[in-house]
Amino acid sequence: MKKIVICPHCKGVFDASNLYDSRIRVQCPLCEDWIWLVDCQEVHNTNKLTQEQLISLLQECGFQFYVASGYWRAPDGKRFKELPTDLNNLFKYAVPKLLQEGYKIDIRIRKDETMVVINKGDFLRTGTALKLESALSWAIWEVIHGNPI
Ligand SMILES: [Zn+2]
Repeated sequence: MKKIVICPHCKGVFDASNLYDSRIRVQCPLCEDWIWLVDCQEVHNTNKLTQEQLISLLQECGFQFYVASGYWRAPDGKRFKELPTDLNNLFKYAVPKLLQEGYKIDIRIRKDETMVVINKGDFLRTGTALKLESALSWAIWEVIHGNPI
């Protein structure tokens, strides 16, 4: 299995698949500092959030579901029949909320994967997936529900 980690010094992302023992000290290929592999946060490589997670995420962003009429209401009053989880809505509702709270969002698009890094000071969470939409929703999910470091 591929093991992608984040360097605690430079926040760079590198492949540590060939480093089996997490207790060893390694040299970061990006900043060349010596780091403990055990201090490196591992990057999520799952594909999609579950329906339950998406619902929870939308609620954290201020969406409300009106049971009687069966629609979702966005914080700006806009109504949705279906769960509005497409990329446009993540950018429209979730990203501004995070930026407002002082987070920085960094999107890295590579040939075979997209990584979204969200951080505020030393707090850092990532989401990795093929599509930006999934990577972004994972990263946001990790910020809201991930355990603090
Ligand atoms: Zn580094």
